[in-house]
Amino acid sequence: CGIVGYVGPQDATEVVLQGLRRLEYRGYDSAGIAVVAEGELSSAKKAGKLANLEKVLADRPLPAATVGIGHTRWATHGGPTDRNAHPHVSTGGDVAVVHNGIIENFASLRAECEAAGIEFSSDTDTEVAAHLLTAAYADAPEGEGRLAEAMRAICRRLEGAFTLVATHAAEPDTLVAARRSSPLVVGVGETADGTAEYFLGSDVAAFIGHTRNALELGQDQIVQIDRTAGVTVTDFAGAAVEPTAYTVDWDA
Ligand code: GLU
Repeated sequence: CGIVGYVGPQDATEVVLQGLRRLEYRGYDSAGIAVVAEGELSSAKKAGKLANLEKVLADRPLPAATVGIGHTRWATHGGPTDRNAHPHVSTGGDVAVVHNGIIENFASLRAECEAAGIEFSSDTDTEVAAHLLTAAYADAPEGEGRLAEAMRAICRRLEGAFTLVATHAAEPDTLVAARRSSPLVVGVGETADGTAEYFLGSDVAAFIGHTRNALELGQDQIVQIDRTAGVTVTDFAGAAVEPTAYTVDWDA
């Protein structure tokens, strides 16, 4: 239902939580967050109001991190339970994904993953994306752009409507997101000391408190955000795309 992502110098958990609060107006039944710190992915998720997630985080804080993703869920596949809340983390704990929309062909993709020995830990359509992305990352060439290449590979197989945002334990400076028939906006900002910071949102409300400089993604596009290299957009085949820049001019 609502998506937030952050790459920048601030504390990712706090920035992502702020974004989720801004998206509360959309309605939701569960919420969750994942961050990458010191080569490890950590996540927390909880059914019910954001306050429930905040309580979990107060009892068991996530490590300090400067990249993170968050989600408020409106369940379509699988009941509104803790285990069905996003982020969904792959077996082995390398990849976390949040998703808005519906992956229509999830049943056949899930059967394929299960046939390969993967155990699922939720009833969602989303979880297949985490497992497929882990496998695609292993197959993608090492080096810059690896996570984006893996995201392109899985998006070519997904049917339905989706905004997906992913992090990888080995990529503490990168977020990758994809969009098909579901909204995704990038925010480009700067902290007081001039350090670049980047936001992802299902709408600009997710980051309006931080920046008004936005990039609109088109259909069937992938965005890679790198802490130093910035924003790179391609289509699902990998061809470079110039995103549309605009200034958010409403008050939130
Ligand atoms: N289809 C996904 C689920 O049920 C995502 C729902 C949403 O957009 O929040 O978990």
